[in-house]
Amino acid sequence: MYFIEMEKNINSRYMDIDIAKNLEAIKQELPEEVELVVISKTRSHEEIMEAYNTGHRIFGENKVQELTPKWEALPRDIEWHMVGHLQRNKVKYMAEFVSLIHAVDSLKLLREINKQAKKFDRVINCLLQMKIAQEESKYGITIDEIAAILNSEDYQNMKHVRVVGLMGMATFTEDQDQIKREFNSLHQAFNQLKDEHELRILSMGMSGDYPLAVACGSNMVRIGSSIFGPRQYQ
Ligand SMILES: *Cc1c(COP(=O)(O)O)cnc(C)c1O
Repeated sequence: MYFIEMEKNINSRYMDIDIAKNLEAIKQELPEEVELVVISKTRSHEEIMEAYNTGHRIFGENKVQELTPKWEALPRDIEWHMVGHLQRNKVKYMAEFVSLIHAVDSLKLLREINKQAKKFDRVINCLLQMKIAQEESKYGITIDEIAAILNSEDYQNMKHVRVVGLMGMATFTEDQDQIKREFNSLHQAFNQLKDEHELRILSMGMSGDYPLAVACGSNMVRIGSSIFGPRQYQ
């Protein structure tokens, strides 16, 4: 009895959330040139299909063990992005289908992506993650390391991987000035590198900070909880 009651509470919380409506409202609000990646981690197939049925096709996950089964089960015209930190030994599970990898932070990882993409005769687009947050827990590399990767002969000889932009995550804080400084530093790095290296995507902004990210020059936002509601875990 007790457990049944608990489950009912959780479900009714979700039933109050209109996924399609939330998604449409965010799309209305975003400038035309800003791409929306709907972050579907921890969400059920049914929840994802509610978003899909509005016509949306770009979804992102942060774990390979969730991404691959969803790719297998859901419609094939979904463009799947991998937005989370990626270990080299996991690349092989998504090389067949992933359309953009957001958080690449080493030449070694690019080498592995290149190797796995070759097996499927694909070119996988990637973003390099710059560390802009002060938190130790956040991943990413410096602008100098990014430039070194892009200028390396090793990268320039890779035929199955293309760096098409940069990605970053701001510090989790209420301090808007700090977030703004961090986004501006990423935008500046992007402007510095984009012409020489043909970068076109600047992925920054999540549910809590995407309006500020867009104001600071983002052209790709990654939004989960503002569409689906708060996550139960992660
Ligand atoms: C979970 C996640 C998001 C989305 O977070 P929300 O706060 O739910 O919008 C964006 N980017 C990455 C890398 C994530 O892991």
